[in-house]
Amino acid sequence: MTAVPRLTITQDNQFWFDAVREGRLEIQQCSNCGTLRHPPGPACPACRSFEWKTVESSRRGTLHSWTIIHHPQDPAFEYPLAVGLIDLDEGIRIVADIAGVDHDTLEIGMELEVGFSEHAHGEILPQLRKPGGDA
Ligand SMILES: [Zn+2]
Repeated sequence: MTAVPRLTITQDNQFWFDAVREGRLEIQQCSNCGTLRHPPGPACPACRSFEWKTVESSRRGTLHSWTIIHHPQDPAFEYPLAVGLIDLDEGIRIVADIAGVDHDTLEIGMELEVGFSEHAHGEILPQLRKPGGDA
């Protein structure tokens, strides 16, 4: 039995989860000053505008940092579990698990891309992979 909580979908983040389910990674952008932001939120941290739109990410980036999780273990994941923080080419960062990469070869600055995978409760979420793989 997994202890992973279910997603909390709000009017501020629903667009993001809807896009991910359709295989797109969208980034919220302030309509007033153009600042990109993630995670999604109601107001721009730069100018406090509530007006926003989205831009679609290239899903390419470089590994900023990562960790290998051994404990505690949850049946929803396989261990050891690599979790990375990626600097997307657009300039924002997201956190996701890393799949299909030998943990011994992980290094800061390596190129990765964002794919998608199904998680504990059937939700689709980003997953970091080597470039050129299947989405
Ligand atoms: Zn702004």
